[in-house]
Amino acid sequence: ASFEDLSLNPCLSRAVSKLGYERPTSVQMQCIPLALEGKDVVARARTGSGKTAAYLLPVFHKILESTVPRGTFPRALILVPTRELCQQVRDEAVKILNGSGGTLRVEQLPPTGSKPAETRAVLGVRPDVLVATPGRFATCLKDKLLQPDSLQKALQMLVLDEADLLLSFGYEKDLNLIATQVPPGCQVMLLSATMPENVERLKQLVLHDPVVVEV
Ligand code: AMP
Repeated sequence: ASFEDLSLNPCLSRAVSKLGYERPTSVQMQCIPLALEGKDVVARARTGSGKTAAYLLPVFHKILESTVPRGTFPRALILVPTRELCQQVRDEAVKILNGSGGTLRVEQLPPTGSKPAETRAVLGVRPDVLVATPGRFATCLKDKLLQPDSLQKALQMLVLDEADLLLSFGYEKDLNLIATQVPPGCQVMLLSATMPENVERLKQLVLHDPVVVEV
């Protein structure tokens, strides 16, 4: 199978081909069609499997195909356990977007201890996609840097990447808070190398009737 078979927005098929990705990896082949159908997806997948593009491509596809006016943000929120991973995910996102010829913006929240003004500056560019740790994003909500109302209006996709680490790094409380602010129609993708009990609980809390993909 090829990326062409996945019915991605043509800008995205062009972008992956420019990146030299010849064919989708197993996790991409399984997740992308389900996500494009609008299903909530749980994938047991490790780093190195191509899992980042497996959620970034559906996230970008959904935003590109949506009729919601540009400037409504954030359209997607990607939660990851560490600042390093925020950077890696943003790098992969920028790589894909550079090849897509589009104008979507992906930003990461500044690190813990940054001044609220720095966070305001990042949010000021109205990024379509926001990458953050649950702690940083929860702080944003608590400090009212992002209004719950704008999240309700804008958010179409939530990604919980490395969910087992999100929980073992102590982000359960932040995730519970964020979960209360996720609008009902928001599509959710959860990726995790392992599926311990606490990941199952998180799954039940935020996902609706998910399809489970084993790679
Ligand atoms: P990940 O598992 O998301 O950390 O991805 C591992 C590496 O594989 C990253 O450097 C990606 O840029 C690369 N990659 C992702 N998808 C593909 C693909 N379909 N073909 C070739 N390389 C890929």
